[in-house]
Amino acid sequence: MIDLVKSPVGKEASTSDKAHIIKILENVGRALQPLELAQIINSLPKDVVLDKEKLTRFLLLTAFLDQQAESPSARRTAIKIYNVFGDYLFFEPQQCLMQINKLAALKDEYKISPAIGRVLPRFGWFVLRVGGFLTYEMMLDKTSLSEKLGQCKSLGEATAFLQSNPVVESILREKATRMYVSWIGHPDLGIDVSNGKWNKSFFEMPVDGHVGKIFSRAGLVSEVIHEEKEGSGSRWNVIVASKMRPSIQEATNQHGEDCIMVDHGAFQIGINCCPDNLEGIACDSCPRASFCQIKAKIGCKGYCMLRDYCKRNVTWRAY
Ligand code: SF4
Ligand code: SF4
Repeated sequence: MIDLVKSPVGKEASTSDKAHIIKILENVGRALQPLELAQIINSLPKDVVLDKEKLTRFLLLTAFLDQQAESPSARRTAIKIYNVFGDYLFFEPQQCLMQINKLAALKDEYKISPAIGRVLPRFGWFVLRVGGFLTYEMMLDKTSLSEKLGQCKSLGEATAFLQSNPVVESILREKATRMYVSWIGHPDLGIDVSNGKWNKSFFEMPVDGHVGKIFSRAGLVSEVIHEEKEGSGSRWNVIVASKMRPSIQEATNQHGEDCIMVDHGAFQIGINCCPDNLEGIACDSCPRASFCQIKAKIGCKGYCMLRDYCKRNVTWRAY
């Protein structure tokens, strides 16, 4: 059992600095989030991408796989699963389930968290995720998931609809649910099963460790919730992102217009520019500038975009 502790963040940013930081994060997210989603789906055949139902189901599988796993590996694995089963993945789930052993070859691609790996072989976790997805499809039977979600009047209703199924509820935890509904419903991401019915301002940030790290290091929040008391173990300064979500959402709502883009911007700065172990941290100059894949897309000048406003509370770690 982890002993959660609350500590002051260090230096908190001024209101005006917070507004600047949130705006920068929002712009970074706006530049990169559509590309990220495109990257997930671009390896799929055109007919899948153009078919709302297939795409809605495929992204649900991706969100299922994302739990307790490294996100890029979960996304690559989802595409490989489609390559094995083709459209049977969407319309013949029972047949796929009976041939789930065909997916054993993909298990090395799929990287799960070390904590899960200690209690379950990798393929075991994989089978639970994919098997859960196929079981849910069997329960949907002929129901169109995209239409069902699109009929929901609000995001809350869509989330409740997903969570009302015990299989989905047990696999798709809160963060992944928020991520999934933003993929299929955010008006700027091109799928929008609701056809504009879901208001952008009602989305909720998924918030992972990297987002928590950037909000803490930059001084956007006043307190950090972390794993242990200072000095009681090597992981004492690891942020518990799920517990910090309300204060992160509140800080974002005060200064931003689109929390999904702010979340994604913080995630990208967190994994690219602001490493957990501080090696090559890009505050004033970035050692990765010559080969960085996002630099040009976000207009980075070779140092962290938050340089002028961030409070650099670098004690805090994502993982
Ligand atoms: S790289 Fe430096 S300036 Fe950028 S968010 Fe991290 S601590 Fe702040
Ligand atoms: S070049 Fe460095 S600072 Fe700029 S976006 Fe890439 S990783 Fe971040």
